[in-house]
Amino acid sequence: MGNGGVKLKRKMYAVSVNNIAKSYGAKKNVTPALHGISFDVKPGELFGLIGPDGAGKTTLFRILTTLLLPDKGTASVDGFDVVNAYKSIRRRVGYMPGRFSLYQDLTVKENLDFFATIFNTSIEKNYDLVKDIYAQIEPFSNRMAGKLSGGMKQKLALSCALIHRPSVLFLDEPTTGVDAVSRKEFWEMLKRLKAEGITILVSTPYMDEAGMCDRVALIQSGRLLEMDTPSAIIRDFSKKLLALKGPDMLTLLQAIRSHKDVADAYPFGEFHHVVLEQDDESGLLGYLQDNGIAFEAKMAVPDIEDCFIQLMKEER
Ligand code: ADP
Repeated sequence: MGNGGVKLKRKMYAVSVNNIAKSYGAKKNVTPALHGISFDVKPGELFGLIGPDGAGKTTLFRILTTLLLPDKGTASVDGFDVVNAYKSIRRRVGYMPGRFSLYQDLTVKENLDFFATIFNTSIEKNYDLVKDIYAQIEPFSNRMAGKLSGGMKQKLALSCALIHRPSVLFLDEPTTGVDAVSRKEFWEMLKRLKAEGITILVSTPYMDEAGMCDRVALIQSGRLLEMDTPSAIIRDFSKKLLALKGPDMLTLLQAIRSHKDVADAYPFGEFHHVVLEQDDESGLLGYLQDNGIAFEAKMAVPDIEDCFIQLMKEER
């Protein structure tokens, strides 16, 4: 692609990442964090970056929000280069870091005011964008941020990241350590923000949250293993999957894993999910019966977690 092509690509995408690499440290102590990652996010997409601790999610978000320089590669946000045009990007992006960015000894209202002021705007001007979220914490507007519950801190941090009406919003593990009900509410809020036309990149270690995104990228050890819509990723799962349970789940799992037809087996809710090497399960089921292991078995429909578990295993 020539230079003109690169410019066109930048304009078409809200975020464009091209072969970005980053390591920390120097000489003998180098920790590679990203190994040349490329992907694009369309305007208005809700894009999920899914990966375990240490995968490189925060490093990537810090590069895209211009807080960290890449060693190699290029990236743009809203058509602006993350290195050369960092000032333009800072005005356009909202960033909610993984560890809360709030000032603990300022009140709820003071925190929001502060973030509005540094972006030369006011709470009143953009209130309509944050009102659904902020209204839930407004009754506590005089409480110190440090005294809020986890769910409330999360809502305030999101309000602060939005108060200057960014066109692209980066949320780094916003649901980590948040209870299940607040997690669900949070994803509902993100859907409403998406409806406002904001492009959202959200990282999470929770594989089950992938289904809430338009597209997801699975990242592990600084590499992208897969990127697609959740339904396309599920469609690509090609092996036969069984669900088994029994009175002694540990013995059952050990026996399943010892059989040659089993490619993988892991606890999954109240069952063990079993990925078969081939289409016929009779060898495995006969073996369990012959060994006196009680179980019940059924076919299982793969979900996104099954797909990710396989992709991560293949990569290791
Ligand atoms: P994630 O957000 O997915 O947990 P990170 O981007 O924080 O991943 O980390 C990626 C890798 O880079 C990890 O191996 C981590 O230990 C390392 N790392 C992150 N920040 C630093 C730093 N400031 N100094 C040295 N190593 C770091």
